[in-house]
Amino acid sequence: MQRQRNVKIVATLGPSSSTYETIRALHEAGADVFRLNMSHGSHDEIAERHKIIRQVEKDLDSPIAILADLQGPKLRVGAFAEGPQELEEGAQFRLDLDEAPGDITRVQLPHREIFAALEPGATLLVNDGKIRLKVEDCGADFADCIVVTGGTISDRKGVNVPDVVLPLAALSEKDRNDLEFVCQLGVDWLALSFVQRAKDVYDARQLADGRAAILSKIEKPAAVKAFEEILDASDGIMVARGDLGVELPVQNVPPIQKRLVRKCRAAAKPVIVATQMLESMIESPMPTRAEVSDVATAIYEGTDAIMLSAESAAGDYPIEAVTTMDNVAREVESDPTYREIIEASRTAHRASVADGIVAAAREIAETTDIVAICCFTQSGTTASLVARERPRVPIVAMTSQRGTARRLALLWGTNTFMTPELERFKQAVVNAARAARSIGLAREQDQIVVTAGVPFNVPGSTNILRVAPCDERLIYNTDPE
Ligand code: PGA
Ligand code: MN
Repeated sequence: MQRQRNVKIVATLGPSSSTYETIRALHEAGADVFRLNMSHGSHDEIAERHKIIRQVEKDLDSPIAILADLQGPKLRVGAFAEGPQELEEGAQFRLDLDEAPGDITRVQLPHREIFAALEPGATLLVNDGKIRLKVEDCGADFADCIVVTGGTISDRKGVNVPDVVLPLAALSEKDRNDLEFVCQLGVDWLALSFVQRAKDVYDARQLADGRAAILSKIEKPAAVKAFEEILDASDGIMVARGDLGVELPVQNVPPIQKRLVRKCRAAAKPVIVATQMLESMIESPMPTRAEVSDVATAIYEGTDAIMLSAESAAGDYPIEAVTTMDNVAREVESDPTYREIIEASRTAHRASVADGIVAAAREIAETTDIVAICCFTQSGTTASLVARERPRVPIVAMTSQRGTARRLALLWGTNTFMTPELERFKQAVVNAARAARSIGLAREQDQIVVTAGVPFNVPGSTNILRVAPCDERLIYNTDPE
């Protein structure tokens, strides 16, 4: 589906968006990627949504990326005997391994490893950071805390331990199970929650075994510290502002977002800015001015994608939320200041022939009246290099690999087309021109830039740049074989 914008939209599916009609309407309104959140929903529900997405993709002949988001080692307290409890500031509260239902003095925290890693002075945050506990004394099976900030605690509320690198694998038993399940269904991206170190990513990659690309969610202070290695190990990144803003002071989130977006672009790996982007639209058809500004800021920063969570999964206005993002994106991207910012932040790092070719493609396109950059890509690498250039003209990625076409739906500015396996360059140029014309990017009298690797079908071999006419007779008359 041809969009009038470059930034991509990720929409999380849930109870508000699980029918064919809604999922199709979300895609038509602008959702390029659908996120299946493994923290909610049964395997049957996930499989059903997956099936509907693939049906929409087929009916609209438009590659869609599916991102399965694994829950990760999210810590939770146990249950309470008599419902929610009000913890008062200054009170004592104990976390332990005892399965007995909790009360105003204690509750179970069923994670033995955590007690071993805790030290007096560490902070524990409960219920999205609303309650703050400070550890005063701890042992192998308990932590005695003082309530620093009070609030309501209830059954299975989440616990964050920001100061401590937890001796936990990023993949719990449930995650391994879910990973295998979604890989068998066939997903394009796997998101890993609470990644702490590069090893977490390597472990997941081994289990995925080439069946999905790996995206690391940055939501722990340890991940911010080890970001370079995590980026290196990953295929993409999510700035997971929800948990990040609990684990770190909220004011630290915007500078981290800016830095991560910039580093991902430099590495030619897609980055998603996520969480609370249009939070008020869960209940209202109109966003707040501050939310619109937040969405705009992420786009000005050059992010590949922006994400909706509860807004599309559980809210009353899923379609309106996507439409709002689409409208904001189109407005921002037509602002001359946007181009200035994007160009000023282009990195000059070039390490390969393909880097040089895509940079030249952009320059040629921008100094002449070329209407699109068409790149042939097997693994998707060349397309990601073109996207890193953030060119003024549209990008058309041509691939014979369905998995690549789907994965590229997450990348800035990339319109992807399936093409048969090609042997001749002339054929490639004809196909590229047809693709660009078919979505209205080019007319017969226009010119495009085509990049490809010859011989075909060898990944990472981009070595040709051709300025080509879109008129097929001209291509046949003038092009080399
Ligand atoms: P979640 O991740 O929605 O799975 O918690 C995103 C975030 O923490 O921002
Ligand atoms: Mn999270």
